[in-house]
Amino acid sequence: MYDITIIGAGVAGMTAAIYARRANKKVLLLEKKTYGGQILETETIENFPSLPHIKGTELAQKIFTQVKEFNPDFKYESVENISKNDDNTFKITTDSNEYQAKSIIVATGTDYRKLGLPLEAELTGNGVSYCATCDGALFKDKAIAVFGGGNSALYSALYLSDIASKVYVIHRRDAFRGDAALVSKLEAKPNIEFIFNNVIDELKASDNKLSSLILKNTQTEEKSELEVSGLFIEIGRAPKNDFLNSLVELDNDGYIVADETGTTSTPGIFAAGDCRTKNLRQIITATSDGASAASSAIKYLS
Ligand code: NAP
Repeated sequence: MYDITIIGAGVAGMTAAIYARRANKKVLLLEKKTYGGQILETETIENFPSLPHIKGTELAQKIFTQVKEFNPDFKYESVENISKNDDNTFKITTDSNEYQAKSIIVATGTDYRKLGLPLEAELTGNGVSYCATCDGALFKDKAIAVFGGGNSALYSALYLSDIASKVYVIHRRDAFRGDAALVSKLEAKPNIEFIFNNVIDELKASDNKLSSLILKNTQTEEKSELEVSGLFIEIGRAPKNDFLNSLVELDNDGYIVADETGTTSTPGIFAAGDCRTKNLRQIITATSDGASAASSAIKYLS
């Protein structure tokens, strides 16, 4: 029986593990893919105090090294279900094991939002991508497009403009949501072109690889074809809390309803990081959440 099982080894989950182990609790940290979470996709982080210009992968490694010093049980397993036992402890079912825990901290972050277009799934990895730093190198000297108007799309476009020959930034409105300073940087790049008031209506493929996009103007409904070999879909993220199976209250968008203490509608289950309802989803707020949720879980256990 674990005192605290933490689901997700992103920044929030890893911070929670440090705090929980420092309080001498028996801790299990579960991760589906790779420790670090979303920061692994960020080339350079500029807004984490004391570590200017650190690479996302480097920060992930630094935090994980610190976690290991406190020696929680760490396993690469995907959580499929959580249920409550009669004695108010919890059963956690993963793809390969079952665990018992007195409390749980959910720190599962978010996943890429998809467009839901035909061929989108088939072409993922064959021209369609959701991560510029992961897949950008595949498009050296090619024409590509980034779809979205937030900071993620703008950062991706900037990063990709040093690799690709041409980067089209397609956005559904006539003004970007992302920071003006970032937009100015993009405007200064000769190989970046903005396409406003357009959405992607269709993906076209040749030899099972993306070959072009059919765009639809949101004002005139007029359609046009844009030849690209790559498309980076950057239209925000969505939480991945399905495995909670109605055990805790979620908001309309699927985020776990929880305040800064991480307290959810179910005693003993806490939420930390991007998976909970909050205003600012950043590394700094994820670390803060991890500490708060661990502190709440420790208080709950005592
Ligand atoms: P976001 O700010 O929510 O922007 C999502 C963009 O996608 C918006 O432009 C939105 O259009 C568009 N969009 C959403 N759904 C769409 C759909 N179905 N079809 C077409 N377009 C759609 O998401 P984000 O860019 O991933 O950023 C998330 C948060 O992380 C933000 O707070 C951002 O500032 C932060 N962030 C920070 C950094 C950094 O500081 N280093 C880097 C990346 C992200 P509308 O504008 O029309 O709604």
